[in-house]
Amino acid sequence: MTRASSGAAELSADNVVIGAGLSGLAAARTIVDAGGDAIVLEARDRVGGRLLNATLGDGVTVDVGGQWVGSDHARVRQLAGQLGVEVFPQFGEGKNLLDVGGRRRLYRGTIPRLGLRVLWAVFLARRRLDRLAKGVSAEQPWTAERAVELDGITLAEWCAENVGTEIARQLIGLAGRTVWGAGPDELSLLHVLFYVSSAGGFDKLIDTEGGAQQERLDGGAQLLPIGLAESLGDRVRLAAPVRRIEQRAGSVLIRADGVEVEARRAIVALPPALAGEIEFDPPLPAPRPELGRRLLPGRLSKCMALYEEPFWRADGLSGEAVTDAGPVTLTFDCSPRDGSAGVLLGFVGGPEVGELELIGEEARRAAVLSCLARLYGPRAERPLDYVEREWSAEEWSRGGPTSNFGPGGWTGCGPALREPVGRIHWAGTETATVWSGYMEGALQAGERAAQEALASDSGVG
Ligand SMILES: Cc1cc2nc3c(=O)[nH]c(=O)nc-3n(C[C@H](O)[C@H](O)[C@H](O)COP(=O)(O)OP(=O)(O)OC[C@H]3O[C@@H](n4cnc5c(N)ncnc54)[C@H](O)[C@@H]3O)c2cc1C
Repeated sequence: MTRASSGAAELSADNVVIGAGLSGLAAARTIVDAGGDAIVLEARDRVGGRLLNATLGDGVTVDVGGQWVGSDHARVRQLAGQLGVEVFPQFGEGKNLLDVGGRRRLYRGTIPRLGLRVLWAVFLARRRLDRLAKGVSAEQPWTAERAVELDGITLAEWCAENVGTEIARQLIGLAGRTVWGAGPDELSLLHVLFYVSSAGGFDKLIDTEGGAQQERLDGGAQLLPIGLAESLGDRVRLAAPVRRIEQRAGSVLIRADGVEVEARRAIVALPPALAGEIEFDPPLPAPRPELGRRLLPGRLSKCMALYEEPFWRADGLSGEAVTDAGPVTLTFDCSPRDGSAGVLLGFVGGPEVGELELIGEEARRAAVLSCLARLYGPRAERPLDYVEREWSAEEWSRGGPTSNFGPGGWTGCGPALREPVGRIHWAGTETATVWSGYMEGALQAGERAAQEALASDSGVG
């Protein structure tokens, strides 16, 4: 290692990966496994990005970022197996709660007990979205028949035309606040269809059993990036936010705080809005810079309350609830695997996140706990401990769970999403074609970008 004139450490490698989230680490691992070398530059002083463990009380680990492993998240399962991290089922015994329009109903499974008209409207909407999504390729959504039309309206506009009852429209909106961290009036219909297509069906997104919320990782999801980073050793450099990427003949020069790396190729594994803040020399060609302005992080907060025991189970409740009373829209039982304590998770998603931001931490906590008490009784209002994570406030994430296009985004700049620019390749869950937005997508995208970089280097380069 030498010192650059700026005082920064100077390194060189075949490949430099920007971002030590699951995607960047998977990219680096793939390169190293293929016999190449890679340096990973991470802005934060930790790895994992949108995956983060926290501790409640005297040692209960909870996930304040991504947590569930879906039924067909094969890459996540394989990685967990390699790292010795076990998966266990999301608790789902007992009845779920639906609290909309001022009425509280109990039900089992995904389908709540609603009037026949509402049930029929929800069933039809799901079937129609699935049918439309079949015509949208997760690789190239902008090539769909009527892509411009589908990209020209929001999910809310589509629901207004196609979903028969107000409660059914509301239910779709509430589900979307957690799935995308956005209100239905913020999402392009084509984006929703892309997402459904990349997951393999609408129900996959919202179901627990057989869907994206099927299982959890014992010890917390952050164990996956931590394990990957450990396997990469000192190739991973923390507290090194990348500010500038220069492309030269035959190489790239990456300038980060405290370190400069010269490499043959760069893999940028960041949410597009954050990639858009890096200075590129020469500037990226149109429409790539547009992506940073139009593919915007969702807004999603996780609020978790710790209790002595999962007391709602004794009342025959699963801990899963959908509510329009606010600010929480969805709850889950996130107690430890052995049930030795009780943890309720409340999601606040979409525009409500911004509204809650304004009222300050204490009032926010009171509002969330009062919502939990409305659902589960007064004990819910007196937790032993409490944590909230507002991802929009995170400098190096800006939101979550993923980034979304509003109208015109996919058709306007979608083709630039994965298209390499010279020696720069793009990873990150947003660029995935399978389970985009999820850990599974982050791994797929990292592996794909690494293969791309390796193949380019073994070719003309
Ligand atoms: C609240 C929440 C709940 C979720 N729930 C689930 C779930 O249950 N199941 C699931 O599968 N997924 C879930 N997700 C999504 C999942 O967490 C993400 O899909 C995945 O972690 C994304 O990984 P990534 O590597 O693509 O991006 P990130 O995790 O965002 O990684 C990007 C990394 O780049 C770093 N970085 C940013 N800018 C720079 C820079 N200029 N220089 C250097 N480094 C930089 C960041 O610090 C970060 O570490 C959830 C996400 C959130 C926020």
